[in-house]
Amino acid sequence: MIVDLRQVTKTYADQVQALRGVDLAVEGGELLAIVGPSGSGKSTMLHLIGTLDRPTTGTVRIAGYDVAELSDRELSALRGRTLGFVFQQFHLAPGVSALDNVADGLLYTGTPLRVRRERAAAALERVGLGHRLAHRPNQLSGGEQQRVAVARAVAGDPPLLLADEPTGNLDSSAGAEVLGVLRDLHAAGTTIAIITHDAEIAEWCPRQVRVRDGQIVDDHGDGTSAPAEITKGART
Ligand code: ADP
Repeated sequence: MIVDLRQVTKTYADQVQALRGVDLAVEGGELLAIVGPSGSGKSTMLHLIGTLDRPTTGTVRIAGYDVAELSDRELSALRGRTLGFVFQQFHLAPGVSALDNVADGLLYTGTPLRVRRERAAAALERVGLGHRLAHRPNQLSGGEQQRVAVARAVAGDPPLLLADEPTGNLDSSAGAEVLGVLRDLHAAGTTIAIITHDAEIAEWCPRQVRVRDGQIVDDHGDGTSAPAEITKGART
């Protein structure tokens, strides 16, 4: 099991109960949507799964490690090995080539620049951007920029990719392009959780986890199945 949340609660300092007893188990190789309205607790769940925050009560296990038992240094090592993140904003460095945006994401590995660039080129190839290595973000379309961000997230081959509204800033055809890349990564074995408020994207995912008022109210589908066809309108 790559993600195992048991009876997880999160109460913020101002006493807002963002999560109220969440159980969630994700097996390696699943593609799932965590879907719910704004304020339902999706981002809080993403932060806990991403080990960026710790629960108030309950346990969070990622790749078998109980997050509560790890030091900050051990947590960031776990994050580096296990997790890739994609956000609604692409967060690419302006004026830096696609190749180096991805290669810089591997700085934590401590490998030489030449090796990082080789891996970056391979990752860009995987997202269909092998012909755009030298392009800077402002020379790329929105869909291409988000594919660079996906390449950066997966260049180190993490088993788990967390995507927070990954098509939220894209029009429908660029969104479909990004979903196509996620579909290919899933087919190749990466576990992917997409956080979204968009019903259409959720429908596209083979497993759907619905969150409301800090609780999971529905969880169905087989995350290891192939996703549905990408419809032109699929976007947030
Ligand atoms: P979603 O991602 O579904 O919009 P969030 O997880 O961001 O939901 O928020 C869940 C609830 O927790 C909301 O009521 C929100 O206002 C609150 N919340 C989120 N982050 C914080 C924070 N850092 N401090 C206080 N309250 C927060």
